[in-house]
Amino acid sequence: MKKRKKNRKKILLLFIILIILIALFLTLKLFKPKKEYIIKTDKDATIDEIYVYGNHLNLNGTIDIHLTNTNINEMNLLFYAKEEIRVPLNYKITDENIYFEISDKLNNGYLYDNLNINNYNIYIETIDNEKTEYYNLKNNTKYDTTEYYSIRKNNELKKLLLSNKNSTIHLDVKKVTDNNVYDIVIDPGHGGIDPGASGNGYSETDFTYLISSKVKEKLESHGLKVKLTRGDLSDSERLPNYGDNGRVNIANETKAKYLLAIHLNSNEYGDNGLEVYTAYNVDYTFASNIAKSITNQTGTNYSTNRAFKKQDGVYTRTLQDIDLKENYETALANGYKPYDVSNETTYYFIIRETGGYMSGAYKDSRDGAPYNHYVNSNVGMESYLLELGYLTSKKDVNNLKNNLDAYVDGIVDAMLEELKSEE
Ligand SMILES: [Zn+2]
Repeated sequence: MKKRKKNRKKILLLFIILIILIALFLTLKLFKPKKEYIIKTDKDATIDEIYVYGNHLNLNGTIDIHLTNTNINEMNLLFYAKEEIRVPLNYKITDENIYFEISDKLNNGYLYDNLNINNYNIYIETIDNEKTEYYNLKNNTKYDTTEYYSIRKNNELKKLLLSNKNSTIHLDVKKVTDNNVYDIVIDPGHGGIDPGASGNGYSETDFTYLISSKVKEKLESHGLKVKLTRGDLSDSERLPNYGDNGRVNIANETKAKYLLAIHLNSNEYGDNGLEVYTAYNVDYTFASNIAKSITNQTGTNYSTNRAFKKQDGVYTRTLQDIDLKENYETALANGYKPYDVSNETTYYFIIRETGGYMSGAYKDSRDGAPYNHYVNSNVGMESYLLELGYLTSKKDVNNLKNNLDAYVDGIVDAMLEELKSEE
């Protein structure tokens, strides 16, 4: 009897030890630090600007000339993890430093959509005939963190977070499910008490919502998440541009990568045809492809209007001297400091205010009116304003009425092609 009791005690003791060992093992396994891929270097490159426009990351900065050899023949941004990704940099050597950038165009940075789920430390790599050197990225911008999202692919959404870590800039790429994050925003121009431009018995709102909702539906059938900035407003409703419930805020809140604003034109000079407006300093390939796709599918022509024209069907309107003068005089008359704008500030508010500071967003609260909460953001949408035709042109109106779905297809196909070309 006694012996049995003793044995039972022994078994109990062994059991407890076993439990402790298992617990210890699990704890060690859970809290084992993830392997960090760090390159030890005491050299720094200064990052002066870092931003995300559309689905591209861009940055620029300098390396002090005394830190480096000027005979380099290659310079890369290195995303360092289990895998190594090299993004070639443009660079320019001066007496004081080496200036580098991913691209000098807003929408031509590094396409980050294809990055894998990983924790990257980011470095600059210079290569000359003899050796390869590495530099930490010293973040000299006012953005300590930058959070942004990928375009959905096969229902997978990635969240990316840049932060200052491990003596350099660090990028976390995670898979997330977030139904408040969209891929594309469509902004149907005007609406409600604002019918927009008119001609030949039609106004913009006879077409803008209809086309926008059809574009949304088609893009969604390809697995993209699309938001309209407004519904089909009744005649007494109004959608303000700014403030919590305004067009700009609704668009920016989606964290989408692209915005297309749908409009129609009018003038008294007999112009007709299609115009695609862009922000200042973008590569025109996508804008040109939108114009091409719509003209091909609808049989309409590139616009005959020559003001602000950059290429066939592609236009960039920035603030002109008269706009700058008005900005100055209005501020003076109302007792606030004029907005910090220039001839490079994008004219159309929907392009400008959804592209972050990069497209010249300036509508802060200084004039006391509702403002753009995202005015200082370094994450912005790649935005385009489409003037699909002139209501004052009979030819354009007839084409719109008879070939409405072709306009929809032209827009949708250009968007899908753009995303496909990036795979
Ligand atoms: Zn309009």
